[in-house]
Amino acid sequence: MNRLANKVALITGAGRGIGAAIALAFAREGAAVVLAELDLETAQRTARDIEAACSQAGIDGARALAVQTDVTQSTSVQHAVSEAQSAFGALDVLVNNAGINVFCDPLTMSDDDWRRCFAVDLDGVWNGCRAVLPGMVERGAGSIVNIASTHAFKIIPGCFPYPVAKHGVIGLTRALGIEYAPRNVRVNAIAPGYIETQLTHDWWNSQPDPAAAHQATLDLQPMKRIGRPEEVAMTAVFLASDEAPFINASCITVDGGRSVLYHD
Ligand code: NDP
Repeated sequence: MNRLANKVALITGAGRGIGAAIALAFAREGAAVVLAELDLETAQRTARDIEAACSQAGIDGARALAVQTDVTQSTSVQHAVSEAQSAFGALDVLVNNAGINVFCDPLTMSDDDWRRCFAVDLDGVWNGCRAVLPGMVERGAGSIVNIASTHAFKIIPGCFPYPVAKHGVIGLTRALGIEYAPRNVRVNAIAPGYIETQLTHDWWNSQPDPAAAHQATLDLQPMKRIGRPEEVAMTAVFLASDEAPFINASCITVDGGRSVLYHD
């Protein structure tokens, strides 16, 4: 506990899934957390759950604020950052977590699918970085954690253009990490493999035989299970904390070894 004491963190897409797990883990480590989420009601419910869970764990004074945010809109993200600053003070940590699956065949994909994917999965990350960087650069401290994917360096046919956007997230992480390293602002990424969230359930349910699709996913995993959101959150805590002061422009894979395996 207290690995993030006195820090203020904003997490996008924190209403559920990996983002909610990160917000909870951060709060348990002493950070004040801002849940910047498309659906305000979901974010408010998650914020209440986080405060209650911390209180039950004997952590006094946990603070979680929900702010309606659409990461595709730079003004909306700027607004969330202003709300965070007004409530808790300057931001120390940003986690760009909001993301959507857009899995298409390249030649039948609509222009709208292409734009939707990039608007959330890449523009959204840039909008977050651009909103917090001026403050972090001015103070000479900050940690940005971008949630990429193993799709950021591996390709599965039929998943276009999601991996293109996620490759971009790694490029953005590396470029900004180098750009602001002299100002002590670290920019890193996490590449999760299969993690059990609504996103993965939606994908299994979109398959002709969801149970078979679920089993096929498990069979592909070296550890014979998929990951839990908390397992990504623990890595985010580490990267956000003062335990990783010399880790920058880097990406940590959290996939149980799946992306190293050559044959399935
Ligand atoms: P979920 O779909 O469970 O959660 C994503 C959250 O982001 C939702 O609360 C969603 O809100 C929110 N969101 C979507 N669009 C926006 C937007 N425009 N502005 C603000 N918030 C938005 O996804 P996961 O938790 O599974 O995924 C989180 C991240 O991890 C994503 O970047 C994903 O690409 C990445 N990832 C996930 C993996 C997995 O296996 N689950 C594997 C690799 C990477 P709402 O519900 O209102 O739409």
